[in-house]
Parts: sequence; structure tokens; C-alpha cells
Amino acid sequence: MHLNPYGEYAVLLAASLAGDWPDDRDGIVARTREVGMTMDFPTAPEDHPRTREVIDDWLAIVDASDPRERARLLNAQMATAAAYPRLTDHDGEGWHLHYRDEVQPLPDVLRAVISVGTALHLTTRGMHRLHRCAAAGIPTNPCSAVVVDITRNGRQQYCSVRCANRAAVRRHRARAAQQRRSA
Ligand SMILES: [Zn+2]
Ligand SMILES: [Zn+2]
Repeated sequence: MHLNPYGEYAVLLAASLAGDWPDDRDGIVARTREVGMTMDFPTAPEDHPRTREVIDDWLAIVDASDPRERARLLNAQMATAAAYPRLTDHDGEGWHLHYRDEVQPLPDVLRAVISVGTALHLTTRGMHRLHRCAAAGIPTNPCSAVVVDITRNGRQQYCSVRCANRAAVRRHRARAAQQRRSA
């Protein structure tokens, strides 16, 4: 696993699991492959529900908008999950850093990788660059997707073009109704 300087893969993996939770352990492993993780994980019976706990704890960080509270939650997670960084060159990936001990079950690896990756993302790109889609407040059909803001200007509000368009339509209708009332 290459945790790039911005922790991007790990945060996007967490958002992917949160947005579309796999039915079983194989589905979780498949998702780790999609973001470029190559390691095999020893199988443990509670891998699936324990990984769900990792994602729920991560969502608490997403929903903590105050930077200090956000940092406190992340520090607590890194204290339980992350070890000192170590250099490794497994699976022909080339030398890279791991933030955990060598042999660990899937949920523990993901907790370490996701917490350190999220900390890297927030400290290098900005503490505000992780939040729910701005369409979360729409009364009809709200969106609960997580936005990992890796844009250049750091002002991404919506999870998708679809949600941004829905909000634009709502604003337009509200303005039109306002104009009818004042006419
Ligand atoms: Zn690795
Ligand atoms: Zn959305």
C-alpha cells in the first residue's frame, strides 16, 4: 500500500466503503484491491462486522466539523491502531511506508491505514476537506455521501455533479417563487 503524501487512497477507500458497504469480507478485500492495496490479510471470523466499526468510527470524524474535535477523534484512533512507520518492499511494490505491525487482521490494517491517511489528507490539504455532501440538508431525498475534497481550490460542496445540479434547480425554483410572490 502506497500511502501517498496526501493520504488520498486511504481516505477514498473509507468513503467508498461508507457509501457502498460490501455484503461480505470478499467485497471489502476487492475494494482494497481497487485502490491499489496488494497485501493478503489473514482471515478472522469477525472481519466483516469489525471493519464496519472502523467505518462507523471514521464517519464520526467526518461528522465532527470542529477541527479540534476532529483531531481528538483521529488521535484516539491512531493511538489504538497505528504503530511507528516502517519501510517495507513486499509484493514487488517497491520500498514504501507502512504505519502498522507486519501481520494484522484486515480490520486492524484498515483502521491504521485509514486513520493515518485521513490525518495526512487533513493536515496537508486542509482540516475542512472532509464532510458530508451539501445536499445532506435537502428535505426531500437528502444525500448522505461523504465528500473527500481533493480539488485544487478546496471548495467542493457536493459529492457529485448530480447533487450540485439538484441544488441549483432548487435554488432556481426558490428564486422564481420569490419573484412571483413579490410581483
Ligand atoms: Zn504495502
Ligand atoms: Zn450528494
